[in-house]
Amino acid sequence: MRGKMERFQWGIIGAGPAGIAAIGKLIDQGVDAGSIAWVDPDFQVGDLGQKWRAVSSNTSVKLFLDYLNICPAFNFAKAPHFRLKDLDPEKTCLLQEIADPLIWVTGQLREKVRSFEGEVSLLEMENREWILKTDKEVLAAKNVILATGAEQRKLEYPNLKEISLEKALVAEKLPDVSEETVAVFGSSHSAMIVIKNLLEYPAKKVINFHRSPLKFAVFFEDWVLFDNTGLKGETAEWVRKHIHGKYPEHLNRVLASDPEFSTLLSQCQSVVYAVGFERRVPPKAYQIGHLTYNESNGIVAPGLFGLGIGFPQKVEDRFGNVEYSVGLWKFMVYLDAVLPLWMRYAI
Ligand SMILES: Cc1cc2nc3c(=O)[nH]c(=O)nc-3n(C[C@H](O)[C@H](O)[C@H](O)COP(=O)(O)OP(=O)(O)OC[C@H]3O[C@@H](n4cnc5c(N)ncnc54)[C@H](O)[C@@H]3O)c2cc1C
Repeated sequence: MRGKMERFQWGIIGAGPAGIAAIGKLIDQGVDAGSIAWVDPDFQVGDLGQKWRAVSSNTSVKLFLDYLNICPAFNFAKAPHFRLKDLDPEKTCLLQEIADPLIWVTGQLREKVRSFEGEVSLLEMENREWILKTDKEVLAAKNVILATGAEQRKLEYPNLKEISLEKALVAEKLPDVSEETVAVFGSSHSAMIVIKNLLEYPAKKVINFHRSPLKFAVFFEDWVLFDNTGLKGETAEWVRKHIHGKYPEHLNRVLASDPEFSTLLSQCQSVVYAVGFERRVPPKAYQIGHLTYNESNGIVAPGLFGLGIGFPQKVEDRFGNVEYSVGLWKFMVYLDAVLPLWMRYAI
């Protein structure tokens, strides 16, 4: 039996950077904060705040400050002093530098909206409302934004011990691999940080299996080539020196299509998968299938929208290169474009 159900205009699921941006922009658009329900198990800035704090960012300090300053609803002008403000705006930084101010912003927003600690396990449509069920609450909302993030994608090599990306991205969290050959799959920003950590830690040997040449972001006045897939900042510098320069002694890089693939893989004892992410969705959303979304505007269904790393916008640059756009500042720019549409596409 269902207890008393609270009703809202908007339900935001997830309190990572995307959920925070959505709340800020809705309030700035004049939506009554009291009519917004915000659900997250922890309210600790999602994966960025809980898993990636010690990871080097791939965007500049300036873009993090732009994100914090763009929404009057964040009240960031009144924030206490954060170290982020002292850093070189053009440089990258550890993600903890943005996670700390975001914790503060989360607190500000929670004072304005109704927040619920819990995980939405069921999402269904009933009488022109979306019903959101957690283990404690049943909420109804006219519109819902899924800002639920994404899980690390994995490959199936059951004979190898897996080191999670979360551990591999932070050298101090790595297990002892001094006697092991470690396979690293992928050639993204994350894969390169993992390789650097493993070599410095050090692992006995690292074999990087990849499918394509590395990409570097190229900065122009008003746009960036390979903005979402290219290496940037300190990681790009390290890669230029060590991967495109002289290979470190204990590193081998091979194409996953290499005829020697199986032989080389059989030399490995552990593996790190840095091959992308898959969106997280509430487990019971039977009416909506796999929660696929329109990649241009985030619409999942009437009154149901996706935002953030789990529902990235597909973008095309001026040379026709297509990428999925992910990043804190990009969530803000995207919201400016799609919110007017989302606000007219109720259930
Ligand atoms: C290693 C790494 C480094 C990155 N570096 C940068 C960078 O330097 N700069 C940049 O701009 N971007 C960066 N990104 C990209 C992106 O900005 C981050 O991934 C960001 O954390 C995505 O935010 P999000 O809100 O979409 O997801 P998340 O941060 O994962 O937040 C999702 C939240 O939703 C909650 N949730 C999930 N399911 C439910 C449910 N059913 N009910 C209730 N709550 C739920 C989760 O618990 C979590 O709190 C990086 C990404 C990765 C993986």
